[in-house]
Amino acid sequence: MKCRVCRGPAVIDLPRHNANFCAAHFTKFCRDQVERAISEFDMLSPGDRVLVAVSGGKDSLAVWHLLRELGYEADGLHVHLGIGGYSSASARMARAHAEALGARLVEVDLREDYGFDVPTGAEAARRTPCSACGLSKRHVFDRAAVDGGYDALATGHNLDDEAAVLFGNVLRWQMDYLARQHPVLPARAGLPRKVKPLVRLGERETAAYCLVSGIDYLVEECPMSAGNKHLAYKAALNDLEVESPGTKANFYLSFLRQASPLLEPVGESGREGLGRCERCGAPSPSATCAFCRLRERAATAEPVTLRARPAPGAGPTTEDPT
Ligand code: SF4
Ligand code: ZN
Ligand code: ZN
Repeated sequence: MKCRVCRGPAVIDLPRHNANFCAAHFTKFCRDQVERAISEFDMLSPGDRVLVAVSGGKDSLAVWHLLRELGYEADGLHVHLGIGGYSSASARMARAHAEALGARLVEVDLREDYGFDVPTGAEAARRTPCSACGLSKRHVFDRAAVDGGYDALATGHNLDDEAAVLFGNVLRWQMDYLARQHPVLPARAGLPRKVKPLVRLGERETAAYCLVSGIDYLVEECPMSAGNKHLAYKAALNDLEVESPGTKANFYLSFLRQASPLLEPVGESGREGLGRCERCGAPSPSATCAFCRLRERAATAEPVTLRARPAPGAGPTTEDPT
């Protein structure tokens, strides 16, 4: 197996691109894909200050590394979710990577800063763990990016994540979710610009990028992810990809090119009339935002250490496992 560029020994084959690469040309390939996504979707401008949501997994560490390689002033943001040993290990990975990059890591602890953690919040609000977690992360990410004066908030959603979310949204024809499924969402009052620079890279590629770049990431899956549909959609798409390389990229990128523009009116109608939460000031369609309601219910609840298995079918739809 030889590198397509230099004919040296290849370390990875990419059937979707009909190519093999050596380590050096593979890292260049990854940088090129991220640069291409940034420019194609107008995500960032040179010199932008970016806050990267960092879980400690391969995707968030890779996107942080790649953005800094590309010259962006990128700080990390890690949210302690309180999911037992998984959360402690996540924090260790995020800190170690910040140190290796010589970058700033902002840390927010749900329990210390907001009085609850994900297992307790989920139980108290009768939400699935992924739903309570997604809601909390969104709130904390938005607040940290706006308060810190960052130009954009970046997340590590990759091509596999986005294709799986698209698959789930199409299966249920969730038009409002489809209208919002875009790799860049513009800033608006109280919300930062949100970008997903990894949408042209699959998770096998981000894992390989970490490996060849010497980035140590958390391999362990979140114990609360078991049974969520997002994973089942990924598995189904992986089967199709084996039969026909390029299926995932074509499904997702063609959606963005061909269907997404047609959905703009749906997305705009969903954005109308957003007021402010009277407690925290976050944009909200109701007087008290969903995060403040979750926080209120969780504040008086008995702390739950961990609930390992959400109900079958639970899990993020527009969320990712950041
Ligand atoms: Fe949160 Fe992801 Fe774990 Fe769900 S799988 S609880 S979204 S970290
Ligand atoms: Zn090469
Ligand atoms: Zn609020």
